[in-house]
Amino acid sequence: LIEFKGVTKRFGDTCVMDEMDLKMKAGDRLVIIGPSGSGKSTLLRVLMGLEKIDKGEIFFGSNPYITVDRKGRTRTDMSVRSKIGMVFQHYTLFPHLSVMSNLTLSPVKVRGMARSEAEDRAREYLARLGMEDKLYSYPGKLSGGQKQRVAIARALMLEPKLMLFDEVTSALDPEMVAEIEKVMLDLAKQKMAMMIVTHDMYFAKKIATESVFIAGGKVIEKCDPEIMFNEPKQERTRDFLDKVL
Ligand code: ATP
Ligand code: MG
Repeated sequence: LIEFKGVTKRFGDTCVMDEMDLKMKAGDRLVIIGPSGSGKSTLLRVLMGLEKIDKGEIFFGSNPYITVDRKGRTRTDMSVRSKIGMVFQHYTLFPHLSVMSNLTLSPVKVRGMARSEAEDRAREYLARLGMEDKLYSYPGKLSGGQKQRVAIARALMLEPKLMLFDEVTSALDPEMVAEIEKVMLDLAKQKMAMMIVTHDMYFAKKIATESVFIAGGKVIEKCDPEIMFNEPKQERTRDFLDKVL
């Protein structure tokens, strides 16, 4: 589904991705682990078209999605970008808009979806996430877990083929973590392709079909989560997991 080929990303002198290669199959749920500052968020942001790259290319299926032209400018195929949804650690809802408007804004404004259709769909997604009674609430009145559910629903409104999750539970109280993890596990059951960055190794093991450890701008190890979390082959992976498990 996704393939990074020799992708390099620098911030000034820091090389966050160093000719990185990474493949993800359709239907996979890839968990990305690595030390703080290893570039996990950057990788997802690059894939979401939020950061430029310096070198390399990214394919979506067999189509070039993100490339660098001869002048070093990043080129992004926007029709592919619209197939990817992302949820961040900190809720990114518009505070001055109701839940309904948060959900319908881009389908209507960007996709040209009929308002009534967008509203029907918003109701359906919120019902699925157990929040149909909050349609006309404002984000300020919602709990952290509810805000994250709305953020997930908002991404799903655009019917993505791939969902990116960047530490979506790490700002939540423990009892809300479980509710968001359940939403993600439900999406997994529906075969949604996902890339997940999390510090919760227990959840990672539960949801992943594939796992990757990155450090120093490179993929150090990519394997079945059973192997990653039980008997990683690389010493750097072992050192990292010894510290966090
Ligand atoms: P964490 O686990 O702490 O979230 P991470 O693996 O997500 O870390 P990134 O946030 O991707 O790491 O950051 C990777 C490196 O890139 C860090 O050294 C960071 O300081 C640097 N970096 C990230 N964003 C920027 C930016 N906008 N400008 C300059 N440097 C940046
Ligand atoms: Mg991060």
